[in-house]
Amino acid sequence: LIQLYAPLNFFGSSYRFLQQAFIDMENMFELFDTDLEIQNKPKAPEMVVVNNEVEFRNVTFWYNPEKPILTDISFSIPPGGTVALVGPSGSGKSTIVRLLFRFYDVQNGCILIDGQDISEVTQHSLRKNIGVVPQDTVLFNKSIHFNIRYGRVKADDEEVEKASKAAEIHEQILSMPNDYDTIVGERGLRLSGGEKQRVAIARTLLKSPGIVLLDEATSALDTQTERHIQSSLSKICINRTTLIVAHRLSTIIHSNQILVLNKGRIVERGSHHQLLEEQGLYASMWEEQQKSLLEGEQREVDLKEQ
Ligand code: ATP
Repeated sequence: LIQLYAPLNFFGSSYRFLQQAFIDMENMFELFDTDLEIQNKPKAPEMVVVNNEVEFRNVTFWYNPEKPILTDISFSIPPGGTVALVGPSGSGKSTIVRLLFRFYDVQNGCILIDGQDISEVTQHSLRKNIGVVPQDTVLFNKSIHFNIRYGRVKADDEEVEKASKAAEIHEQILSMPNDYDTIVGERGLRLSGGEKQRVAIARTLLKSPGIVLLDEATSALDTQTERHIQSSLSKICINRTTLIVAHRLSTIIHSNQILVLNKGRIVERGSHHQLLEEQGLYASMWEEQQKSLLEGEQREVDLKEQ
């Protein structure tokens, strides 16, 4: 029995790791040919997505019953619109994103896409419509070509190259020792945080989903890399329904709606300008970030002058 449990445990902990790392699980499930925790309901229909409209309706969620994580969360994203989630660390932003990808089922309320409850449809039909650019992209210890094509395994070389160009990583790949055949990842060529994010952007462009989930990296990239990444990121949001977890408020000032979370509740909502006028939590976060941005830019200038 122990022999039987060991691999199951291994699978369980790997699955949890992957949930945290938040890689695109759809193809991963195809690799495992199984789903480990969330199961399709018997005779679950395929989800039919036309408009890509997302709605959270009175969602309550906890990982453990002793600790509520999200309470009564309601919001909707119109087709092609963008909603941004901001708030202190641990307020539940990434959890909302994980729930939309159905890593977990909610305890109360429901999540709807084009009016269909995501817990009632097959996971495959849900996930094939959603692209994810995670905080920290997991790379396979395989070629850079494999890592990008993973967004749509049936894509041909030309399509992979087109996506890499749009994600602005093509030139860099050509300068690698074996260009697209270069092995990257743990035992291959190590990519920087910004480069890994570009791989995720290329993957998502290749997948071309109607809904995009962006979980902005918490780790600081330098200002220039950050600006370049932003321009690639904004490409994947065009005409796609987007839910973005933002740590840098400057990236989301044009969102249709910003939701401010605190301790698992939405405490403020509105456009950037409306929230600044409210002079609440968002306004103080904005002020704080502007101050540290100015200090950071001053430091960069000082370093250049030295
Ligand atoms: P950050 O800005 O630091 O990424 P966040 O707002 O995205 O934070 P979440 O990652 O959604 O916050 O976490 C919300 C709460 O849920 C935290 O208290 C966290 O410790 C807890 N939590 C997250 N994942 C799990 C898990 N798998 N099991 C139990 N608790 C979890």
